[in-house]
Amino acid sequence: MSNTVNDYEELAQRLRDAELLASCASVLSWDEQTHLPTGGAEHRSNQLGLIAGLAHDRKTDARIGDLLASLESSRDLGDPDGDVAVNVREARRTFDRATKLPKKLVEELSKTTSLAQQAWVDAKKNADFPSFQPWLEKIIGLKREEAAAIGTTTGVPYDALLDDYEPGMTAAQVNAVFEPLRKELVALVSAIQQSGKVAPLEIVERHYPQVPQRVFAEAAARQIGFDFDRGRLDESPHPFCSGFGPGDCRLTTRFNDHHFNSAFFGVLHEAGHGIYEQGLPTAAYGLGIGQACSLGIHESQSRMWENFVGRSRSFWTYFYPTAQQAFPTALGGVASDDFYAAVNDVRPSFIRVEADEVTYNLHIMLRFELEQKLLDGTLLPADVPAAWDAAFERDFGMRPAKASQGCLQDIHWSGGLVGYFPTYALGNMYAAQFFETARAELGDLDAMFAKGQFKPLKSWLNEKIHVHGKRYTAARLVEVVTGKPLTSAPLVQHLQTKFSALYGI
Ligand code: ZN
Repeated sequence: MSNTVNDYEELAQRLRDAELLASCASVLSWDEQTHLPTGGAEHRSNQLGLIAGLAHDRKTDARIGDLLASLESSRDLGDPDGDVAVNVREARRTFDRATKLPKKLVEELSKTTSLAQQAWVDAKKNADFPSFQPWLEKIIGLKREEAAAIGTTTGVPYDALLDDYEPGMTAAQVNAVFEPLRKELVALVSAIQQSGKVAPLEIVERHYPQVPQRVFAEAAARQIGFDFDRGRLDESPHPFCSGFGPGDCRLTTRFNDHHFNSAFFGVLHEAGHGIYEQGLPTAAYGLGIGQACSLGIHESQSRMWENFVGRSRSFWTYFYPTAQQAFPTALGGVASDDFYAAVNDVRPSFIRVEADEVTYNLHIMLRFELEQKLLDGTLLPADVPAAWDAAFERDFGMRPAKASQGCLQDIHWSGGLVGYFPTYALGNMYAAQFFETARAELGDLDAMFAKGQFKPLKSWLNEKIHVHGKRYTAARLVEVVTGKPLTSAPLVQHLQTKFSALYGI
């Protein structure tokens, strides 16, 4: 037993140190995206490269392999869902993934994606897919090598990549929940369009000065439970949330003077990620129990606060008078029902990041469909624009006029993030299923929101989801919290109820 205790303590210490080092890189990257002068870019990339190498060396140190082997052969790890067993299991997972990849492949991927992202920026700007095609070919080739090096029990290469973002989930499982969702969404979008009702979008496109936007968004983030003594909000061109570690979680947003939704719902979204990060057990920093369950579960937290709470009628019952005070010129004469309709506008559009709550998931499923085909070789990179446009017309009834509105709009593939997209729609489904259970267990959430009471929901999420870190896979967490496996039914139910009322269908 004492050997096991010593081995475990040493392992935990090594993992914490590796995470501390990696978190220094997060601070530098946050600074790069918020404050760095352009002249400092090269020096910063050298700093980040050095730290990434040092952190990788620590995470793949052979001593970690020895400690894991010794711990796994002992019988003292206790309950398989207990902290010690989970931390050892997760350390093994990370160690295996890191050590299975040949260093040459890691370097090649890092170099290629860095150049490919620059090529993508230009290709997108000029709507010029052929200039990006060789990069996509190279990246897909490297990602196939990565999948082969990692290996899967299913024999499906895509699963090896998906597992990095959504541990334990397979493409077949994702398809099983996506397919019924797609049918319902296509029907709902079509019913909304046929309703003849059009949301008064112009209301959210009036002039919204930046200072009150910031004050109002921060107040809302604070009210839903983001702790500004352990975090802060800054500006960056691409909004994100970065949890540096215990007591320090950074949110960013961007302000658009003529679009209310961009910063406000962006801040609620990132604050949802931040509340999750702030709810992770600090004593387990660097260990499995101290880390977020999966990207999909992370996204479920941001989407819940952004959409299920922030775009609800009851949320605006509470916040609308404050919004009118903050923006008297834009909103002084606007009825709260019209404002509520405007922030819930649904209409097919080309750009994923600007999509509404209903059509968003269709954007994701299209990407998921194409990237699976790219990886198994049934779709060649050269044929991506045509395949994209055809799939888009099938799902949205319209065709992008240029590649920048189609297959070139997202940064993910150029950055080597293949297998990442489905986590966004999974996040919406997890959120819906968690929210349904929260409603059943906590009572009338809408009555609470209408009075500005968000603490019951926040504490419920802390207790049911955040404190567990990686104790369960996402699929098991859903079962443990909601008593049922993941299905698309709660999301479909949520969207149908909400938008039937809004569009009178
Ligand atoms: Zn997010």
